[in-house]
Amino acid sequence: MIIAEQKPLKEIIHNLEGHRNILVAGCRSCVAICLAGGEKEVGIVAEALRVYGEMHGKLWTIEEITIERQCEKEWVREIQAVVSSKDAILSMACGVGAQVMQEIYPDIRVVPGLNTSNMGAPEEQGIWREKCAGCGDCVLHLTGGICPIARCSKSLLNGPCGGSQNGRCEVNPDSTPCAWDQIYHSLKRLGKLEFMEQIIPPKNWITSHSGGPRLIVRQDAVLTPEEKAEKGVPK
Ligand code: SF4
Ligand code: SF4
Repeated sequence: MIIAEQKPLKEIIHNLEGHRNILVAGCRSCVAICLAGGEKEVGIVAEALRVYGEMHGKLWTIEEITIERQCEKEWVREIQAVVSSKDAILSMACGVGAQVMQEIYPDIRVVPGLNTSNMGAPEEQGIWREKCAGCGDCVLHLTGGICPIARCSKSLLNGPCGGSQNGRCEVNPDSTPCAWDQIYHSLKRLGKLEFMEQIIPPKNWITSHSGGPRLIVRQDAVLTPEEKAEKGVPK
């Protein structure tokens, strides 16, 4: 899932300066799970903006809505009636959702309410850890199911650096386990320790974001113009 956290309220208020009719728009997916932009957080931010407005004589009206997924056009289009009267949307979705919102409503300013951080997973209640950096060429089959790109601070592909101490990463020992220590223990458990001796060649980063924005096309799933017309898919 995508992990994000709320921007400081002060920054949100600054970024909304000059707008009168504001919609605070949440998302019920990843950002709801990481307690950043679901219905509850939308309610809290919207109320904080209303209170701030009253205290500082701001003539803004704040409405709120939470949709299933802001990263999918279909859900975003459904709120057209609510959005059309607004001059700004505070998107409480991840950066993907905020961009889809802007794409569907190009004439209404979309302001991000969250800082999108990483692709990760809940570790325990209230703790989320980065797991994947979306490199486009997965090596988990060689590393005991633990990602050396996202989880090693130096993205090392062939074993730990000299700073690994007692299973902790030298870059941030308090919060970060050494990924290569974890890889070693995982491979040992799996009976695949010989993988530690296998040299992973230098990575071709062209499949990662270094090669530019990625585009995935599944030709078998792409609709023909006729099928689009039949299904009423907007252009
Ligand atoms: S190797 Fe690449 S695709 Fe696989 S988990 Fe790590 S970053 Fe993600
Ligand atoms: S201590 Fe481990 S996780 Fe940290 S940079 Fe070195 S190998 Fe990577």
